[in-house]
Amino acid sequence: MNRFTRTTVLAVTLALVVVTASCGSSDEAADDTTSTDAAAPTTTSSGTTSSEATDTDTDTDTDSPGATDVAVASLFVDGALTADPSVVACTLETGTETTCFQFEVSSLVDSVDTDGPYCPDTVDDVGGIWVWDGEDPGLYALDADFWAKMEAQGYEFVDADGNITVTDPGGGGGAGSGGTANSCLEATADGSFHLQVLIPTQPEVLDEPVELSTISQVGLALDGVTIFGDAPSVADRGGLPALDACGGHIDPSGYYHWHFGAESIQTNLDEAGTGLTCEVDQDVEALLGFSYDGYGIYGPEENGEVPTDLDECSGHVADTDEFGEIYHYHYSYESPNLPGCRVGASATGALTSPDNQAASLLGGDGAGGGPPPGGGG
Ligand SMILES: [Zn+2]
Ligand SMILES: [Zn+2]
Repeated sequence: MNRFTRTTVLAVTLALVVVTASCGSSDEAADDTTSTDAAAPTTTSSGTTSSEATDTDTDTDTDSPGATDVAVASLFVDGALTADPSVVACTLETGTETTCFQFEVSSLVDSVDTDGPYCPDTVDDVGGIWVWDGEDPGLYALDADFWAKMEAQGYEFVDADGNITVTDPGGGGGAGSGGTANSCLEATADGSFHLQVLIPTQPEVLDEPVELSTISQVGLALDGVTIFGDAPSVADRGGLPALDACGGHIDPSGYYHWHFGAESIQTNLDEAGTGLTCEVDQDVEALLGFSYDGYGIYGPEENGEVPTDLDECSGHVADTDEFGEIYHYHYSYESPNLPGCRVGASATGALTSPDNQAASLLGGDGAGGGPPPGGGG
């Protein structure tokens, strides 16, 4: 399986990541009895030219981060990145000045089907899904039963003829207006721009975890799609920003993003009795993305079962194929299935667009709300 063939590449990746972060130390002794098993000798950052490195073939010039870029890129799904990753200077939310990987992705990734369905036209059509947080909460298919439940709770998404009220939350001039009280929200896709993601090359643990609640930024999936926390509550906002069967949708500014770990959502869909199928390949154990603090996010299972020692953020320290024993997160079988908090610092400006200043990247979901409060700077 490719997970295992990747392992060697990844070990090298991690070793080189360590190099990047620990420049300044002049001791190159570091016999590899330390945590990472691979190629520790490459700790010759810039000046030192001792080449007793039992190196792998690829990285000949150790003073360039080029090898690192290649190794990190190889983790991603083919075509997920629209530029080679680079290592850039960045500042963490703690004020620490360090280095980050910079990844560039398309606003609509080729490898993921972003065509929905999201909002069904009528109560008889097949739509996507929603995690309802009102009375009788849970994951639901957007079908006749769901709309009937909404009506019973006083919401009016459906007219007398059975048509669903659908609104484009990014549509001409209306952003921020809030739209109709009870609309199924479905934004128009725009694949014309790019997103840039900064992930620290060396995680820095925070004193207190940061909660990842509504529309907070979670990370970057290896398919090149950004991951956000819960979509906005219908109860709070009136509109329902429908998700497709894999837990993704289009932001009002046009880019596709996840509100679920798509690669294990089928279990959630089945357990909720939605009758829907997510077309993304399911893999409940693989490395599937990176949190904005630099730690990996894996599927909900490890060695065939859900780990029992996870912390409040759905993470723990355990052995990984890619990085050895290290802290990492797991998706859960809850809905949504994402880590609920982040233990490490993210970079400032962790998600930006190089070619679309209007993209709403802090909040993720306009959903009638416009830019997030205090979102300046
Ligand atoms: Zn684990
Ligand atoms: Zn969203």
